Amino acid sequence: MDRAAIIKALSQYDPNFDELKINKAIDFAIHYHGSQKRESGELYYNHPLEVAEIIIKMRLDSNSVIAALLHDTIEDTDLTLEIIDANFGPEVAKLVDGLTKISKIEFIPDHKRQAENFSKLLLAMSEDLRVLLVKLADRLHNMRTIYSIKSDEKRKRIAIETMEIYAPLAERIGIQKIKVELQDICFKILQPEVRESIINRLENIVNNDDLLVNKIIEAISEIVDAKSHNWQVSGRRKTPYSIWMKMKQKNVGLEQLSDVMAFRITVDSLISCYQVLGLIHTHFKMVPESFQDFISVPKNNGYQSIHTVIIGPFQHKIEIQIRTKDMHEIAELGVAAHWRYKQNHHDVTDGMQYKWIRELLTILEQSSDPEDFLQNTKLAMDYDQVLCFTPKGNIIALPKGATIIDFAYAVHSNIGNKCIGAKVNGRIAPLKSIISNGDQIEIITAKNQVPSPAWESFVITGKARSEVRKFIRSQQKDQYIKLGRSLLEKAFKQASIINFETKLNDIYGFFKKKNTDELYYAIAENSITREEVIKHFLPKTSKIESAISKLISHKKKALTLNQETAVPIKGLISGMAMHMAGCCHPLPGDKIAGALHSGTGVTIHVSDCAMLKTYATTPEKIINVTWDTDVKQIPFVSRIKIVTPNEPFSLVTLSSEITKEKGSIRNFKVINKNEDFIETIFDIETYSVAHIEKIIQSLKMQRIIQHIERYKS
Ligand code: MN
Repeated sequence: MDRAAIIKALSQYDPNFDELKINKAIDFAIHYHGSQKRESGELYYNHPLEVAEIIIKMRLDSNSVIAALLHDTIEDTDLTLEIIDANFGPEVAKLVDGLTKISKIEFIPDHKRQAENFSKLLLAMSEDLRVLLVKLADRLHNMRTIYSIKSDEKRKRIAIETMEIYAPLAERIGIQKIKVELQDICFKILQPEVRESIINRLENIVNNDDLLVNKIIEAISEIVDAKSHNWQVSGRRKTPYSIWMKMKQKNVGLEQLSDVMAFRITVDSLISCYQVLGLIHTHFKMVPESFQDFISVPKNNGYQSIHTVIIGPFQHKIEIQIRTKDMHEIAELGVAAHWRYKQNHHDVTDGMQYKWIRELLTILEQSSDPEDFLQNTKLAMDYDQVLCFTPKGNIIALPKGATIIDFAYAVHSNIGNKCIGAKVNGRIAPLKSIISNGDQIEIITAKNQVPSPAWESFVITGKARSEVRKFIRSQQKDQYIKLGRSLLEKAFKQASIINFETKLNDIYGFFKKKNTDELYYAIAENSITREEVIKHFLPKTSKIESAISKLISHKKKALTLNQETAVPIKGLISGMAMHMAGCCHPLPGDKIAGALHSGTGVTIHVSDCAMLKTYATTPEKIINVTWDTDVKQIPFVSRIKIVTPNEPFSLVTLSSEITKEKGSIRNFKVINKNEDFIETIFDIETYSVAHIEKIIQSLKMQRIIQHIERYKS
């Protein structure tokens, strides 16, 4: 806004407008800031001029505008309060002094200091609320131009401070317009991915119909006959931030939250509000429990309006606000609107609008823990959280760095325990993947799945970690009990004692155990030895002694018995049931893929197996796996098809050749036979593709082979 525009605007609404004074204030701003520049390179004095424009749009008095023009001069230039007092009077000097004091308050992330500073801010404002109004205008302009700040970190810090302190203050004094703009700028800086995903989803919901809002406005205007009453119907899509807040409050997804458009009907009188409400509710179905009458019971900040949610034109769920023009002004400008009406009242601290400042101050003074108080007063944003969606659109909040396993456990312990895979935004993702804001996550579970001890190394939430540990402990305990039992059983057998279980029932108490399971556990742990137990049932003889010493030599072996054979396949979750497909018989060396079956785990196929084509519509069930060459290879069955002449001893020749090449025949079947030829299938245990190739090569050397191939289905 240039000089002429400022003077013109003020002269139109401020009866105390003094052209000379305003001109002088503009001169001071330009002169004292001189050639100072902002980080953007722009001349500094443009900033106070812009702040003055915001103040003028709120239609505040001349002294507020002068304070806006001079708000940074004491801090940043040679200008002194005395000079301001001498040129503009004590009222302006006091406003500028208050603004200077506030500007020194830094909301550093130390909560104790923050609480102190917050109370200083409240004190400065409680003397004259115009200090806060100018401060908010200052912050608003700084936020509008925040992208000229190059440091990402600095932008974030400022956004956090704005979100925690200034947006809630704007809300408290009812300046909806500033609050909404501040929040949306901060949202963009602090949670860009979430904001982006909301905007994208919003596009889908309204079907990219840019005209939809206009069409609905027209339909509503017609129903309430807005034209002949000169009522205003307006509409907009809600801001991403307000939608986000609503989603969080209601714990629903965007698809469920269909009232993403808001409409307003501004009428001329209080009675008309209810008249319009009647028309709207007669024509459209109201959504139960959505109706609120803030005209009859205004909000604490003075806000008045009727809110209702209806299934509106074109079956869209929309919110409608109905209010008078005066109510609307207060809704947009809050305390600033009051100020406008009371321009000649200097006792601005009197109205109900300012009572909350005094109340806050009293609470703050009496509060034993100012940090707690501050936590409760700010509308904290969750910038150290990620928020993601379940397939149904419910929101799950997790700490930053959380993985898919953390998410699964946050949904339900059972989902976590049975988790075998996940789709993130429709794509298969590893369980270790770190969740980003706005991700939609679908967990794939299997009945037989159990938590893997490896999960403990990457989960970050307490819940996931403790559930995994709990499971591992309980599983270990089971294994120990089984092991202990089998060790004792063997020992009893070797000592020729029968009915060992009945006998143990008599003595677990002797070992201070509550039941036989605890005794088994102690045996497996070796905190009680088998010898100690057996001694209770036998007289000491040398025969027994030797039986016992034999046992001891076997102990080490027994303890290693329950170690599983490692699966030579990478990409599986430990504990996931796995078997080789019977159709294609994969061998180490084959390219392979896993197919998930709920309930039975994973089947490993050769990657070009025809069976995999049946998963074309459910690609999420296919997981990437490879052979683990670090693990000692175990034999797998492979299948070959051989055509030989129908003559005696053909099969004998074949089998002896296979055995010679160290293939072990598991099964064979004649699948076709005529006068001339026999077609046979052999299932052979082999260690690798190379191994079966070698067998095939040596068979090919035999005269009788007409045709031979590895058989894959
Ligand atoms: Mn400033």
